[in-house]
Amino acid sequence: MKYRPLGRTGLDVSILSYGASSLGGVFHDIDESQGVRTVHEVLDLGINLIDVSPYYGLTKAETVLGKALREIDRDRYILATKVGRYGDDPADFDFSADRVKASVDESLERLGVDHIDIIQCHDIEFAEFDYVMNEAIPALREVVAAGKAKFVGVTGLPLTVFTKTMDRLGPDGFDTILSYCHFELNDTTLLPIARDFAEKGLGVINASPTGMGLLTERGAPDWHPAPESIMAVCQEAVELCKSRGKPITDLAIAYAVSEPSIASTLVSSSNPANMRRNIAAAEAELDTELLADVQRVLQPVMDQTWHSGRPEYAA
Ligand code: NAD
Repeated sequence: MKYRPLGRTGLDVSILSYGASSLGGVFHDIDESQGVRTVHEVLDLGINLIDVSPYYGLTKAETVLGKALREIDRDRYILATKVGRYGDDPADFDFSADRVKASVDESLERLGVDHIDIIQCHDIEFAEFDYVMNEAIPALREVVAAGKAKFVGVTGLPLTVFTKTMDRLGPDGFDTILSYCHFELNDTTLLPIARDFAEKGLGVINASPTGMGLLTERGAPDWHPAPESIMAVCQEAVELCKSRGKPITDLAIAYAVSEPSIASTLVSSSNPANMRRNIAAAEAELDTELLADVQRVLQPVMDQTWHSGRPEYAA
């Protein structure tokens, strides 16, 4: 496994990291003991960054992850979780200072740890931007001052959440960004931001190298927000890889970890065999010939995305 510095945090993170949303059963029902085994196995294979949220499985992912982590020395992993998102309705977002601070305490309890490494505001495009900046960010700085977390980040789908945060806080006012579905075979729009932010010392985390299942043989789950046009073309790319005897997830992962300005890419599966395969793919050479063929198929939907959050974030 290769490691890269996470901006100026002083942390070196594995280029492939573990997204624990699967442990909350967000894709399909999971076997909890298998999920625990998966966490142990990915750490043994060199992954050192794990990302979760109270939102995943409505606290289930943090609870299952906590069971796995209770058996592991705290210095073996870098732990990221989130605040502010607790469901899918607008009413399920709460970035108030009091809720954010209570949320960190609840996560510490569920995860069975005394500190979190990276505490992130989750999907900030669903809240009023000024409110997140004026309530949640200062509250998280207090959480850091209290020793309950080390670094502060923001996450979201529209890339403007990151540029707005940079404009407001400056490069020293936050530590990390977590972007998803914007650096994968069918979408490369994160690149200019990743390069600019990494140069400014921010830690750039990329999530969803399969586009939350778009680039898998199983296909996207029912709740997937992508329009049918994107899903259909992604399935053509899946079929092309299948016809060459090469699972598309291998290519998707090798591609996602190939960009040096992205410190780490989060992938999720509760299945240990899938994660072993993903780790091997992150360590393998990128098949540039297959990449070119697949991206040719994906061209009609390249860099297309979907709306997420409040109307002001409409593309
Ligand atoms: P992903 O691209 O990792 O897709 C996960 C899906 O791919 C699951 O259905 C999984 O079973 C399947 N999969 C994984 N490896 C496979 C393999 N080898 N073969 C076949 N199928 C495979 O997308 P994701 O789960 O959305 O993202 C990963 C992590 O990133 C999440 O767990 C979370 O930690 C983080 N994330 C954060 C945000 C946010 O903060 N807003 C959003 C998305 C993701």
